[in-house]
Amino acid sequence: MTISDFSQSGDQLAVINPANLMPLPAPYDKLDKPIKALTPEQRSRMDASLDGISILGLAPPASHEEERAFIEKFLAGLAKLFTSGDNWTFLQPLVHSLDYCVKCQICSDMCPAYVASGREEIYRPTMRPEILRRIIGKYIKKSHPLLRKFRGTDIDLNWQTLARLGELAYRCTLCRRCAQVCPLGVDNALISREIRKLFSQQMGIAPKEIHEKGTVQQLKVGSSTGMTPPALTDILEFIEEEIEEKTGKKIKIPVDKKGADILLLHNAGEFIAWPENLEAFAILFDAAGIDWTLSSEIAGYDAVNYGVWYDDVQFARIALLHAQAAKNLGVKKISLGECGHAHKAMIVIADRILTRDLNIPRESSIPLMEEIVMSGKIKLDPSRNDFPVTLHDPCNMVRLMGIVEPQRRILRKIAPQFREMTPHGVENYCCGGGSGFAVTQSTNFPDWRSSISGRMKLKQTLEAFGDVPSPEIKKYVCAPCSNCKGQYRELFNYYGVWEKSGIFYGGLVELIVNAMTDLKKPFIQWEWH
Ligand code: SF4
Ligand code: SF4
Repeated sequence: MTISDFSQSGDQLAVINPANLMPLPAPYDKLDKPIKALTPEQRSRMDASLDGISILGLAPPASHEEERAFIEKFLAGLAKLFTSGDNWTFLQPLVHSLDYCVKCQICSDMCPAYVASGREEIYRPTMRPEILRRIIGKYIKKSHPLLRKFRGTDIDLNWQTLARLGELAYRCTLCRRCAQVCPLGVDNALISREIRKLFSQQMGIAPKEIHEKGTVQQLKVGSSTGMTPPALTDILEFIEEEIEEKTGKKIKIPVDKKGADILLLHNAGEFIAWPENLEAFAILFDAAGIDWTLSSEIAGYDAVNYGVWYDDVQFARIALLHAQAAKNLGVKKISLGECGHAHKAMIVIADRILTRDLNIPRESSIPLMEEIVMSGKIKLDPSRNDFPVTLHDPCNMVRLMGIVEPQRRILRKIAPQFREMTPHGVENYCCGGGSGFAVTQSTNFPDWRSSISGRMKLKQTLEAFGDVPSPEIKKYVCAPCSNCKGQYRELFNYYGVWEKSGIFYGGLVELIVNAMTDLKKPFIQWEWH
């Protein structure tokens, strides 16, 4: 495949053949099925000419005029990416990344999607930037002082080129493993995200699970789950009852406590999918005497900020609501629950927009957990966690933010059979559900996510437990991130991992609480969900 093929109408550019995918260990080596094909009806209304997958559901233009308008809108958005007024957030790293790449391809072998696909050309980390560079070279560089040196013009802009480019921006999990190894500091993940941003901010195009069902719903009702403040009250009552049932402890989850030391900003999806995570936080904080609260304000009880994956404006709207909720309560700091992208959003990127009294200290809850565990305030018995445990490193917390050791020091203290994945720490692989993929259920995208973007993670997780393959031996992947847990659930369901290998997934705080000696029964219940 050459770059100029990108502009050719007709057949899809890549056909995913299960036989070419990176091999998995037995018994998963014979389980791959072909990725579901779109139905003829779906094909008639959405483009899948990149690789047979559609995440955006783009409808082809009805006329030549519509196609022209689409292209012009794209070019106007592309020009905006290179003006400091429109792109003050990421202009510099974008230009640097497009300009400095010497095409050495060191990054390609680091990309889990590219390698797991059987080195499918279109998934190379350098493919998206190269297409963008050529579009710039042919269509906008003359008018732009920053872009004059870009070469390569062999690409034609038409509907097909842009539909494929939009889809291709969503075949990268934004894990930044490629950026980590680039000798020139080129960040190809940033380029994927800038393409997504152009499509969203200029053209109103983004996956519906991320934009409409995610950001828009969160701004409207308070949470991307659709959970309203009254529904939050009901759910917290349920969680308090569960805590009492499991532990005999009557714990009131503090909500809207003015002047608390900590606002726990937690992913509300967990309250529904994995309530045990918030239960464990409540039990741990109660035992350690932490002065904390949740907020019931719109967006204040849901840490997610999907804008971090696709749109600076939507990102800023949610980040401001989060900071405002903390300010209204007068808390001393915000502690982010076990959610990786929320860490990136609120602790790293929000620095660019939060000023003065909205610039409230923001930290990860992981070092706080370490402080509690190491303080000796609560009694822990590691023999309660005497089962094989491995650790997944969420890309945003670990590679991006450098939170590497606190979770390991905790696990070494409370989990006698803790073992690392290979590789791990800042070199670890993305779960495959990063950048919104874990919440995306459209058409046949989930098949791609499980069999390609999650494939490397599945392989290294299975290998970490290679000495204990029997499903009779229950094993635990500690994944301290809501999206990573969502991806693990989907991935394990797709391949039947719970049944075949007995591997369970959960957070870090649950393992700590499971080791607490004043709980009569084990906290972890090993019920698949
Ligand atoms: S992005 Fe970096 S590592 Fe990848 S090809 Fe370019 S210069 Fe090489
Ligand atoms: S960010 Fe991750 S998925 Fe995207 S190109 Fe780089 S290594 Fe591949």
